[in-house]
Amino acid sequence: MIQAPKGTYDVLPPDAERRRVLESHASRILGAAGFRRIETPVFEATDLFARGVGEATDIVQKEMYTFDDGGGRSLTLRPEGTAPVCRAYIEHGMHKQPQPVKLWYLSSFFRAEAPQRGRYRQFWQVGAETIGSASPAVDAELIVLLAELLDAMGVKGTRLRLASLGTPETRAEYRRELTDYLRAHESELAAEVRDRIELNPMRAFDSGDPGTQRVMSGAPKLLDRLEADDASHFAQVQELLDRAELAYELDPTLVRGLDYYTRTLFEFTSDALGAQSGVGGGGRYDRLIDQLGGQPTPAGGWAAGVERILLAGAEQPIAADPVDVLVTVSDREDRAAAITAFEVSRRARIAGLAAQLELTGRSLKSALKHADRISARYVAIVNDERTASLKNMDSGEQVEVGSDAVIATILRGSRLV
Ligand code: AMP
Repeated sequence: MIQAPKGTYDVLPPDAERRRVLESHASRILGAAGFRRIETPVFEATDLFARGVGEATDIVQKEMYTFDDGGGRSLTLRPEGTAPVCRAYIEHGMHKQPQPVKLWYLSSFFRAEAPQRGRYRQFWQVGAETIGSASPAVDAELIVLLAELLDAMGVKGTRLRLASLGTPETRAEYRRELTDYLRAHESELAAEVRDRIELNPMRAFDSGDPGTQRVMSGAPKLLDRLEADDASHFAQVQELLDRAELAYELDPTLVRGLDYYTRTLFEFTSDALGAQSGVGGGGRYDRLIDQLGGQPTPAGGWAAGVERILLAGAEQPIAADPVDVLVTVSDREDRAAAITAFEVSRRARIAGLAAQLELTGRSLKSALKHADRISARYVAIVNDERTASLKNMDSGEQVEVGSDAVIATILRGSRLV
């Protein structure tokens, strides 16, 4: 038996329905705030992620599905959505549109990670990006909108962690300070952290190793090193979140696995999830567009994992799709009746009814049973080319009608005409 590849899964109909609910909440909540949908290609030039996400990140170093397109160009299955959206913003000259440009997506992404509950190699993210404004209100609005979406999906036990990374310059200086600190405590650190001091010292905050954690509790914090401008921006974001009565925790150790963030950084976690507790997060990336070859353009955004929202979210009562009529035949051998039944079901759908044709050659008795199971309101039993019996499954009442009158009779019965 051939199975789906490791780390991938099938979206079966009940799950597809929950995703549709998520999509409609996202569309409503983000649409009302002026976000419009965007869809970028599944693969991009590898360079986009190397430059956008950052060469030193785990994503670029270890997790990308990269391949040759056959003509010597390196392509990569998108591991995230922000760099592609920024590429599209630049490529389509969206800076000429009224700013900010607000875009949202719901797409699949690919990372070669070790699969576990809530972590897959192909996964979906819903994401939002606001490009072209430096206002702290952008940051707060993005956070509030994600909170609203998680709330609409009934995601339980959420916590919001918030930090500011300042500018790349502040970060570089802080990085030197932190590197010196880590060097001074090298012998107390986990080997894996020690090996990465130069490459990515911030990741030491992420370590689960007790010795490293002890060292990190005394490490200098970036939040204490912010420039006045950045500190004031961050204070304004917090003031807006306070006004929105959205609870958050300041977490100076917050790090995310992407290099493009500047200033505000945030993450929602849920206690309803296990080890993979991150539901969604994001922040500002004021230098990214510039870095990808566009004009310097301030921007911010977030991405949230669809699987994790569904795992941590409330079970939504899923109503079965209503079936107005099941069309069958009284004589399974009668080809003319079968053709008429096909036509009746086809024309019923054109008339706006949810109409299903009996397709398995069931006897009339088992077709009626099947109609009950799928909660069909009517069963149309085509007797021959011209006549049919129409059974109302609620009342049990059955009337004889011309086969061309089946639809009108149902519509009249439904008081739709
Ligand atoms: P990131 O793009 O890494 O900031 O991730 C944003 C959100 O996407 C996370 O909070 C998760 O909910 C989700 N996510 C990231 N990687 C995976 C994965 N491999 N499988 C499932 N969800 C993921």
